[in-house]
Amino acid sequence: MNSKEIRIKGIVQGVGFRPFVYTLAKKNNITGWVRNSSAGVEIIANGSHKNLSEFTAGIKSNPPPLAKIDEFTESDISTEIFKDFSILSSQTIPGEFIPVSPDMSICKDCQEELFDPNNHRYRYPFINCTNCGPRLTIIQDMPYDRPNTTMANFAMCDQCMTEYENPLDRRFHAQPIACPQCGPHVWFECGEKRVVTDEEAIQQARNFLKNGMVIAIKGLGGFHLACNALDTEAVNNLRQRKLRSDKSFATMAFDIRSIEKYCEISGSENILLESPQRPIVILKQKTDTKIPDQIAPGMKTLGVMLAYTPLHLLLLEPKNGFPDLLVMTSGNISDEPIVYTNESAKETLGPLADGFLLHDREINTRVDDSVTTEFKGNNYFFRRSRGYAPNAISLPKNSLEILAVGAELKNTFCLTKEKYAFISHHIGDLKNIETYQAFTDGIENYKDMFTIKPELIACDIHPDYLSTKFANIYSHTNDIPLVQVQHHHAHLAACLADNKWETDENVIGIIFDGTGFGLDRQIWGGEILIGGYQMAQRRFHLEYMPLPGGDAAIFHPNRIAAAYLLELGLPWEVQFPSIESLSTEERSVLKQQLKTRLNTPFTSSMGRLFDAVASLIGLRHDVNYEAQAAIELEQISDTSITDSYTFNINDETISFKSLIADILNDQNNNIPAGIISSKFHNAVANLVLDLCKQIKREINLTHVALSGGVWQNQILLRKSYQFLLKEGFSVLIHHDIPANDGGISLGQAVIASRQHCQ
Ligand code: ZN
Ligand code: ZN
Ligand code: FE
Repeated sequence: MNSKEIRIKGIVQGVGFRPFVYTLAKKNNITGWVRNSSAGVEIIANGSHKNLSEFTAGIKSNPPPLAKIDEFTESDISTEIFKDFSILSSQTIPGEFIPVSPDMSICKDCQEELFDPNNHRYRYPFINCTNCGPRLTIIQDMPYDRPNTTMANFAMCDQCMTEYENPLDRRFHAQPIACPQCGPHVWFECGEKRVVTDEEAIQQARNFLKNGMVIAIKGLGGFHLACNALDTEAVNNLRQRKLRSDKSFATMAFDIRSIEKYCEISGSENILLESPQRPIVILKQKTDTKIPDQIAPGMKTLGVMLAYTPLHLLLLEPKNGFPDLLVMTSGNISDEPIVYTNESAKETLGPLADGFLLHDREINTRVDDSVTTEFKGNNYFFRRSRGYAPNAISLPKNSLEILAVGAELKNTFCLTKEKYAFISHHIGDLKNIETYQAFTDGIENYKDMFTIKPELIACDIHPDYLSTKFANIYSHTNDIPLVQVQHHHAHLAACLADNKWETDENVIGIIFDGTGFGLDRQIWGGEILIGGYQMAQRRFHLEYMPLPGGDAAIFHPNRIAAAYLLELGLPWEVQFPSIESLSTEERSVLKQQLKTRLNTPFTSSMGRLFDAVASLIGLRHDVNYEAQAAIELEQISDTSITDSYTFNINDETISFKSLIADILNDQNNNIPAGIISSKFHNAVANLVLDLCKQIKREINLTHVALSGGVWQNQILLRKSYQFLLKEGFSVLIHHDIPANDGGISLGQAVIASRQHCQ
């Protein structure tokens, strides 16, 4: 008889870990005990040598679906010999912490029970177990126990209690456990009318949707606005009410079969769609479907997710001719954060929705849907939120406890501890007062959840970012050092950390972005950096161009295009689409601005160059969401075309006067916009390769990191990746965090950590 002490760290609580260990122990004739501690899970095991090794191998190789083992240590000990195997009550170790599981979509077992007429949770919209259901969204305090969640007000019935207390039950210590007798309920409201039983409320909501109406639905992390995605009038209606004139709506389907009618789905896309996180996956639309253009204007793609809660499954049940696809766009007005309480929903979404499907399980933290696309069989995120946050990203080295506050748009913050970086769910645009509140609340919440007391705070160098201002004050009040990180260095470091890059060795950073405050106080965004975690130096950059009106120009690609033409000394003719689209007055204001340089910062942004090209070819002159022009330019590009324009590289400047002249020329010769766009994409990919080859010749670097918002462009990403690989470069792209500003906080954190550990 041998004995072992086993300690496991990672996501091992609230995910059915102890019953799993218990069952495995019984199977292998192991005696002893298992318990949760505030550091993870501890096991004492007695058994024969062979049984013990099978037991430990079983834990490591086949843990419960939501568990994530980060650390597994075992040591031989001499201890008393136990007669049986038991689950002991939890033990708290002060200062220790364990990671919290993200919210997870309904599991297969619960889905079966949901549609099983003999189950006592048959058609119950809040069925869940230790493998699925809400987590982050309902946690109010630590430790993660029912009284510290928004489920505290629901007293468990006897049956739920029995399951909750039975170590062998699928719902053992499932904190959100509930049933129709004791748990939350849904109801439907339309004006003064209220439909109160679960089933009737859901059927009423379905009727509204079938009849072309827009309803607000309370989900897992907030509200959605929904309508029949195949009903053009309903979609138009929603678009008008939401004041979101062009940005694509996300959609939701009951199963893969329903999606297949409208989109192409590869094997790996199928896996992402069905993964327990159930993100919105960007898929290629099939041609000639009944999808109204108004769902995703100007797009060949469609964002689709599978129903991820029992409520969504009941709502979308394929029965009685119910539509295959619903629009499920975030319940908010334009750029405000997603609404998450019944009261605010009725207030803010009242004018937008014809009815409300509400419930009484409160949401403590609002969490948006994640958005991803497939690259090389993995996620390539546009937004990392529900299902992923607050999962830790593991760091290559132990870190100080750091708070990194991220950028301004697409904000996330990041807290580090030991070998973990906890990147928050998507927070959004901090300029919005409510979002800013969510940002400060979120920081407090995460600090508590992971018992982190920041020793260092990191932020951008942009003096006007609200996150920078927050960091300044925080550093003062808490008397901890402030580290300011240049935006594009943060992008580079984020990409390195995302690739588990360990050393301080330099790489080539191709940082193509929209906007970031540069070290010379200009707006950067087309930067070729050489560096690592410690520091980065700029080796090349796009030539500086004027941005008349500053940030406001971002919404007017035609002004950008017109300004670039003037600055480059290229022809400025009224029949050019960009110029034509400006009023006479706008033209003279613009010329005046360029002459006086008043409110005209300079930018080396690659994002702006995409905007300018989109306008030059008449594709998009004004945008109503960030990067719209660039996104539409990508959509019309044809990957089969290999022709290319060329950039010129002089010393450290990448110039594009002749490139723009060639575009104007093609434009003059009536070359279709799609071909011009393709040649431009090829030019940028070729530029990336040329720059890397030159740096390789000069200093023999062969690792290339691609980061910054422009790398959301899939055509550019895939082309550049291919070109670089073929030339023998090793390419680091993003995997677990987005290439856009959602990844900045991680970059800031790892830079601050390295700089302060020397
Ligand atoms: Zn379940
Ligand atoms: Zn119950
Ligand atoms: Fe950026």
